Amino acid sequence: MKRILDKIKSYETIIIHGHKRPDGDCYGSQFGLKNIIKTSFPQKQVYVVGEKSDFVSFLGDIDQIEDKTYDQALAIVVDTATKDRISDPRYVQAKEVIKIDHHIPVDQYGSIRWVQTDFPSCAQMITYFYYTFKHELKMTLEGANALYTGIVTDTGRFRFRGVSNITHQLAGLLLDQGVDVEYIDQNLSKESLSMIALKGYVYSNFVTTEGGFIYLKMTQDVMKKYKVTEEQAASVVNLLGGIEGYPVWALFIEYETEIRVRLRASGPTIDHLANQYQGGGHAKAAGAKLESWDQLNTFVKDVEALIKEYYKQNE
Ligand code: AMP
Repeated sequence: MKRILDKIKSYETIIIHGHKRPDGDCYGSQFGLKNIIKTSFPQKQVYVVGEKSDFVSFLGDIDQIEDKTYDQALAIVVDTATKDRISDPRYVQAKEVIKIDHHIPVDQYGSIRWVQTDFPSCAQMITYFYYTFKHELKMTLEGANALYTGIVTDTGRFRFRGVSNITHQLAGLLLDQGVDVEYIDQNLSKESLSMIALKGYVYSNFVTTEGGFIYLKMTQDVMKKYKVTEEQAASVVNLLGGIEGYPVWALFIEYETEIRVRLRASGPTIDHLANQYQGGGHAKAAGAKLESWDQLNTFVKDVEALIKEYYKQNE
């Protein structure tokens, strides 16, 4: 952390990257870090780049920057384990790259890497960073809102394993900065009628397998029918969670060039399986890719084998 702070101090231009299809933690970490750097060192140029997320757009706007901005810049990539998931590939043009992440490491990119897999969100890392150096760093309410949002979204509102005493203490310190929990919850809990209808579809059309896997195929046709974006469609994965007898669940989302798998588990460890399908993540929440629906059967069999092994070990 000290080396990261020294680097931040030594660069005039800092560009903060996240991952493709950013979520609350990605945005929260990006905008939280931007706010800390900008408030502490107002003369520095700090940008957040990458894809836009409608879900957490209340945290800030993505900056549009020219290639030449990278010439003398420091790029900090947050919340991203693999190089190919980094949003805006121009990070390689920066003079130096730093990785700050809480996922199980896959790619060793960056000259400085701070990876903390025991933290349930990357926003918790940024908050921890801030409080470690609080005698020399500053933050405004905007930054605290972003970090708090990152912490609550990646912990499923403080429900997932990994939430610790430190998580609550750091979240509490953000509340001391004036975070309005109701404002954040209202933004995160907005629901459209089309999303309610889509949820009805999910509950009526999921597939269960004998081996204990439950999933849904979210095809382009379904998304069109229910008039939802891919981001909205992907958000329903947890509807399939916690169902008795089904310790692994997944949502398969059909994109133009690939099928994205959002894989979740309540018992078995699934990140290794995700690794076999161009993915990764955490032990109980991972992402992967299928090239086409032809791979679905094999994927289902692999999940079932994993569940079987898990039951055998826990007999
Ligand atoms: P998601 O289902 O997209 O929320 O992903 C669950 C977790 O796995 C997140 O922490 C992601 O950052 C990670 N993840 C998702 N997709 C991939 C991927 N293709 N490669 C590596 N990690 C991933």
